[in-house]
Amino acid sequence: MPKHAFLGMGIMGAAMAANLGRSGLVTNVWNRTTTNPGIQIAKKAGCNVTKSIEEAVNNVDFIFICVSDAPDVEKVLFSSEGVVENAKKGSLIIDFSTIGTKAAKSLGLRLKEIGLRFLDAPVSGGDSGARNGSLTIMVGGTDKDFSDSLTLLKVLGKNIHHCGPVGSGQAVKLVNQILCGINMVALSEAMRLAEIQEIDPNLVVEICSTGAAGSWALSNLGPKMIQSDFSAGFKVKDMLKDLRLVNEELSGRENFSGVNLAQKLFELAITTFPQGQGGLKGTQSMVLAYKNGLQNKLP
Ligand code: NAP
Repeated sequence: MPKHAFLGMGIMGAAMAANLGRSGLVTNVWNRTTTNPGIQIAKKAGCNVTKSIEEAVNNVDFIFICVSDAPDVEKVLFSSEGVVENAKKGSLIIDFSTIGTKAAKSLGLRLKEIGLRFLDAPVSGGDSGARNGSLTIMVGGTDKDFSDSLTLLKVLGKNIHHCGPVGSGQAVKLVNQILCGINMVALSEAMRLAEIQEIDPNLVVEICSTGAAGSWALSNLGPKMIQSDFSAGFKVKDMLKDLRLVNEELSGRENFSGVNLAQKLFELAITTFPQGQGGLKGTQSMVLAYKNGLQNKLP
């Protein structure tokens, strides 16, 4: 039976690895910080916890990665104790992290040169989608690598799309992040206007989610805003990373004022928490920028 490795037991990685474990797939898991609660989530689902990348990828055919940003994926892959030093030739690396189009293309080329296969496969659907195995997965890579991975990806997601060559998954994901980031501005303003008009905010979720204004954010994050539950889900620091990646992709060619506005509002939301905490909160915390009148400071 083929063996699998999953590197990065954060909110998303742990939930995804747990789904592989529960499906009876032999899955070695590794996380940099051994106290991350994700390790226990994966262990309870039947995954084998390993102490190093070397141990995790030893003799496996598929290597999944879900860490934060491009430099983190690079470190997991290319450090002296990383994947490249220890993976068997021909293994297929599938990276779920959101790292941007350019980084994925560059990693794909470097890995190909040394005989390793690579798919970029960023995901959408949030922590709940990762837990339920209902993620949307946007895949970039060759037809063969995509078809070889499809059975496994179907354990993790419901909507698996082959977008084109390596980098294409990230390209679609950056588009997705514009929609998610700016949608949060709309959701925060909608909730604030309901509050100003003394309307029960539960009505906003109940009524607006059934009409043309419905969205994943309204249905899933609207209730969290109402309960003042600002725990992540999807961390503000990661949304800011993704909007930064959008701007890097634009590289000054065009100015997307919606993206820039969302960026500023997320930065303001961070300031509503004690230092260092705001970036680790969920993206729904943007509503706090409005509750605190901070949006009035914007030009
Ligand atoms: P998270 O909970 O913060 O987890 C990040 C993981 O990355 C942790 O396991 C962390 O390990 C690991 N990591 C970070 N830097 C590392 C490095 N240099 N070397 C090794 N490991 C490193 O984040 P997440 O929410 O799971 O998100 C992971 C990725 O999925 C991100 O790219 C994010 O943008 C994307 N994503 C997230 C969501 C969501 O709803 N959460 C949805 C779609 C896509 P430690 O425990 O050692 O810090």
